[in-house]
Amino acid sequence: ILLSAMTFSRTITVGTSADFPPFEYIENGQFVGFDMDLMREIAKIAGFDLKFVDMSFDSLIPALRAGQVDVVAAAMTITDERKQVVDFSIPYWTADQSVIVKSESPLTITVLFSKGKIGVQTGTTGDLWCTDNLVSTGMLPEKNLKRYDTFVLALSDLLNGNIDAIVLDSPVANRFAATKPVRVVGIITTGEQYGVAVRKGEKELLEKINNAIKVLNESGKMSELIDKYF
Ligand code: GLN
Repeated sequence: ILLSAMTFSRTITVGTSADFPPFEYIENGQFVGFDMDLMREIAKIAGFDLKFVDMSFDSLIPALRAGQVDVVAAAMTITDERKQVVDFSIPYWTADQSVIVKSESPLTITVLFSKGKIGVQTGTTGDLWCTDNLVSTGMLPEKNLKRYDTFVLALSDLLNGNIDAIVLDSPVANRFAATKPVRVVGIITTGEQYGVAVRKGEKELLEKINNAIKVLNESGKMSELIDKYF
């Protein structure tokens, strides 16, 4: 019986962008973080095997649509634009955007948003917020918004003084503020929600994921995962 169950179990390839602690990062060569454990728990309940693949955040949706990955678990915000091209699970997290600067930086939000050099990760909601609210409105010159493939690169530019601030998801900003010489100087209340993404029309897979999220919420396992990483 066990053998036949194993024969039929499907391997799900999960795309992530492992530079986003505590949601996804690499430690001792392993994918760790809240989203990674969440996917492992979902897989246990749904009965599939998992394989993680790391890539830049803006490659995730194209890779999903092209069939290179089956699921995206990357602290990905459910947005109307993304919903046109992928399907999302029920939400499992709520976040805002935060602005971080070097600990000793005297720059205020007003100064930063009018003449600072701001870093974002390409294609993230932080990028979209800055593009729509700062650049498109003419408040911040286009050249002052610097887009990065990963937060690792953005952080090193911040610490080296090449940029003045980074706009990113609040839980990750808080983690960086606790582990690096940076501090949160402002919060933009977006109330965005994270979901796990699948290819459009993958109804069965999505249902299994949603069902597993509900089971984890009800069993207390979700709170256990939160306690582990936050
Ligand atoms: N939640 C943000 C978004 O979906 C950032 C995600 C990330 O950088 N991994 O765009």
